Amino acid sequence: MTSAYPYLLSSLDLGFTTLRNRVVMGSMHTGMEDKAGEFSDLAAFYAERARGGVGLIITGGFAPTLEGTLYPMASKLTSRREVARHRPVTEAVHREGGKIALQILHAGRYSYHPLSVSASAIKSPITPFKPRALSEKGILRTIDGFANTARLAQEAGYDGVEIMGSEGYFINQFLAPRTNKRTDRWGGSAENRRRLAVEIVRTVRAAVGPDFIIVYRISVLDLVEDGQTWDEVVDLAREIEAAGATMLNLGIGWHEARVPTIVTSVPRAAFVHLAGRLKKDTSLPVIATNRINMPEVAEDILARGDGDLVSMARPLLADPQWVRKAERDADEEINTCIACNQACLDHTFDRTRASCLVNPRAGYETKLVLTPVSRGKKVAVVGAGPAGLACAVSLAERGHAVELFEAGDAIGGQFAIARRIPGKEEFAETIRYYSGELERRGVQVHLNTYATADLIADGGFDEVVVATGVAPRIPEIPGVDHRSVVTYAQLVLGEKVAGERVAVVGAGGIGVDVSEFLTTVDSPTLDLEAWQEEWGVGDPGETRGGLRTPAPEPSPRAVYLIQRKTSSIGRGLGRTTGWVHRAALKAKGVQLITGATYDRIDDDGLHLTVTTTRRGRPAGVQKATSRLPGIAKQVLPRSLTQVPQEVVSVEKRTLPVDTIVLCAGQESVRGLADELAARGTAAHVIGGADVAAELDAKRAIRQGTELAARI
Ligand code: FAD
Ligand code: NAP
Ligand code: SF4
Repeated sequence: MTSAYPYLLSSLDLGFTTLRNRVVMGSMHTGMEDKAGEFSDLAAFYAERARGGVGLIITGGFAPTLEGTLYPMASKLTSRREVARHRPVTEAVHREGGKIALQILHAGRYSYHPLSVSASAIKSPITPFKPRALSEKGILRTIDGFANTARLAQEAGYDGVEIMGSEGYFINQFLAPRTNKRTDRWGGSAENRRRLAVEIVRTVRAAVGPDFIIVYRISVLDLVEDGQTWDEVVDLAREIEAAGATMLNLGIGWHEARVPTIVTSVPRAAFVHLAGRLKKDTSLPVIATNRINMPEVAEDILARGDGDLVSMARPLLADPQWVRKAERDADEEINTCIACNQACLDHTFDRTRASCLVNPRAGYETKLVLTPVSRGKKVAVVGAGPAGLACAVSLAERGHAVELFEAGDAIGGQFAIARRIPGKEEFAETIRYYSGELERRGVQVHLNTYATADLIADGGFDEVVVATGVAPRIPEIPGVDHRSVVTYAQLVLGEKVAGERVAVVGAGGIGVDVSEFLTTVDSPTLDLEAWQEEWGVGDPGETRGGLRTPAPEPSPRAVYLIQRKTSSIGRGLGRTTGWVHRAALKAKGVQLITGATYDRIDDDGLHLTVTTTRRGRPAGVQKATSRLPGIAKQVLPRSLTQVPQEVVSVEKRTLPVDTIVLCAGQESVRGLADELAARGTAAHVIGGADVAAELDAKRAIRQGTELAARI
């Protein structure tokens, strides 16, 4: 093997079948599994990853019983009737030389419906429904359900199944004393608690015969109080092996854990040492997971024995050709997953189709197609932020002749500011990827070139794309031109330095990021030990669940984060990432001020009027709605269940700060678009130049790619 990645690309002989390499596409719910009509899209999605060389694909979760579904009408495989829709999926993957296993996922108390069941009747902190404790009969019926689903998967042409035993789902709920308070043979001692997991594997093996892959997803680090100990994990692994599993896939952290496990601020490969540790006690191949996104990271893990295979889900959404590029030693061509969760997991939790911020074609393989053109046009793209970059490279991929104009001395736009935020270092990978694509696809790039309408007119272009983005909004606060005031761009780019007491005006995504910038000395992402200390990640050999007391590094300065709204700060952040930012701000002692009116800025600091409110509503309404079950609250009109605010106090405050950072949103940069319009020159306007409100890189890149597909 001449490749730079001999471990990663070597095949794995499982006795009855062989995997072509060590890359497993980990399970990820795309939303397409829930609707029979979307299985053809699902087939195209997986086929593209199989064509890209993935060794083994694991599907999103399918429930083995109705109670085990994630939410009403969510994916399940419980009857023969459902088998036919899976065949196009397995056939498409096999046609591309790949292998695919179906994940069997019983959500237990994480089910978002009133039929949920668990080991004990203990509600989870992240779902509104209290589960019913399963009876002995119910447990046996559920075990049979797993076997039935595995048999149906085999009938549908899958090469195997993955039994989901981690992330705090049903099986994990039986394993941990946190959620298993039973006193029968399924609870109490560790042996009793693992009986369900072992019986499921044994029964599934008996149902499918010897020549079928059974991956067991084992939770090695629960990251919750009263989770499992390391000895319990090892004993479980041994019994799972004896019960007939083919491989062990690592699971890290329950969904309710308050430690981040996959977001971008988690250091790469942060948990793989546990795979290496588990390998010592099992002869099964072990799959290492979490925050593995580039071939050299994966190769290092395998070379040092921290796993026999690596699992990645999001990196293969970002780049379906990931393995092929590793085979060509062309990792610099990989469109790297930046672990933002914005278009994948956030969509899953919002129950919309999963896609990818850096690759909007993910999940839309049949709909967003960059077909080659027979006669290329000459196209000008103005602005090398995410919108302009995505548009320029996609146009060039189709065969157009593209010229890209950028006023600055580098590409990236606002994203180049984002990548300097501690914990967002991965964002630099996107800029690296686009930079290479521009070169590989022959886009003519004009840096330090401010495009005017004259320059565009002189170029003789067939099409013009304006992607001039956004500029920080300067709010109308008396004294805003005081020397203590800086914009977020000036601060993060190092043009201005903050003092020891800082007020951040505006608490949207950028205000939160800037607060983290101000309160961090060295980025924890770059130092695993510091990150583990900050979040209290310990050793499951020492404490149950592997938790210890967090010890974040103190902030070098006092920071106030301020907004005018009275709602809690960070509401608009991502579904799966917002809590991490809020926890980080709390750990660093950032003082949050809501309900602020900015009165003025002067030598004494920032003068505010702060209105404090409290949640309140008429007693009758309160009493009635408090008795409603969660589902009723969700279906009732918001006006009936929402809590109006009552003013409690209005107070004048002066924050004695030496620096005030403006993070008060952005405004579209439309000078060129308006100039062109005034001359009657047609132009396509995309990204922040089009609409600044609620702009993010996800929208900018998608809009740029979609436009390129149409021109
Ligand atoms: P821009 O990024 O503003 O790019 C416009 C480009 O056009 C600039 O390079 C500019 O120099 C150039 N330009 C303007 N006028 C001309 C002209 N006349 N001629 C030539 N060039 C011109 N988004 C997310 O999705 N997730 C995040 O986690 C995230 N974090 C962020 C953190 C920070 C600190 C910041 C600042 C932003 C963050 N964003 C994030 C927002 C994201 O970066 C923007 O939404 C995105 O960059 C907008 O893309 P755009 O291409 O529309 O505009
Ligand atoms: P934003 O989320 O719209 O927040 C702007 C903030 O400024 C709000 O707190 C707003 O709150 C305040 N504000 C607005 N107008 C103001 C004014 N005239 N005077 C004073 N305050 C004002 O915008 P952003 O923080 O600039 O972020 C831009 C985009 O980047 C966002 O849409 C976001 O999607 C994206 N982004 C995403 C992430 C992420 O992690 N996903 C991170 C960073 C940025 P009040 O009106 O209540 O004061
Ligand atoms: Fe990765 Fe973000 Fe794409 Fe999800 S949306 S796959 S986290 S880059």
